[in-house]
Amino acid sequence: MALTGAVPPMPADPALIDDLVAANRILYNEGVVDGFGHVSVRHDRSPERFLLARSMAPGLVTAADIMQFGLDGEPIEPQGRTPYLERFIHSEIYKAQPAVQAIVHSHSPAVIPFGVAAGAALRPIYHMSSFLGTGVPVFEIRDAGGPATDMLIRNPALGAALAKSLGDAAVGLLRGHGNVVVGGSLREVVFRAVYTEVNARLQPGRRERPPKPIAASMAARGTCGKRGRWAPGVEPRAADSWPQGRLPLLPPMRVRGTAQRSRRLAGRCKRLGDSPRVVPTLA
Ligand SMILES: [Zn+2]
Repeated sequence: MALTGAVPPMPADPALIDDLVAANRILYNEGVVDGFGHVSVRHDRSPERFLLARSMAPGLVTAADIMQFGLDGEPIEPQGRTPYLERFIHSEIYKAQPAVQAIVHSHSPAVIPFGVAAGAALRPIYHMSSFLGTGVPVFEIRDAGGPATDMLIRNPALGAALAKSLGDAAVGLLRGHGNVVVGGSLREVVFRAVYTEVNARLQPGRRERPPKPIAASMAARGTCGKRGRWAPGVEPRAADSWPQGRLPLLPPMRVRGTAQRSRRLAGRCKRLGDSPRVVPTLA
């Protein structure tokens, strides 16, 4: 059943909405999301719906920003609010996996190299990240979307392909883009998203592997495409976080080596012809 248009919203438990707001704030404070990324939860009264903020910086989300969506990925009562472009990550995973209750999508920075470096698989290296032990698949969007997408999951078909790639894993990587984490509750998925990032910072060997960068044709369409020309919706989201002092800088890092990697990324994007300041967080 399509849940769009005139279908009225079914009020969700206010405590669940409060938890979703808290999840946004925690993920921001822990450096998993910055001005970008999102977290959703399945509706407590209808498994055919889920809750997700409107398109905005996660660190600023309030209860009034939470929208309801059907499993077609469309908002049930948008009230003029703009949804996240990549909401199909959530809708298609909820559709494919009834047991999943909550989902995080982020560009969590330390995880990115594991999606692009051949042979550098993300593995659990301590007990806090044992959920990685069932394997971490890497989604190659070119297999589903052709050779020159902008790397974003912008329609249901790409979301379905990602959900298929994820399978039963707790975490999946999107090559040259970010990761998706699923869980049986909001608290579980936030825990997993945070410790996926921590595990990636701690795992040795990732910098020794030669990365295979994203294709030039895709880089040209991505958020660091041409100087002064933002992809639609990107600039306002970056501006949202400006007062919080996080964007366009990377989240705080406490592990040696990250600053050097950030400079290398900035240099690479500078060569592609865009501002090096904004690119690292949008990789
Ligand atoms: Zn994304």
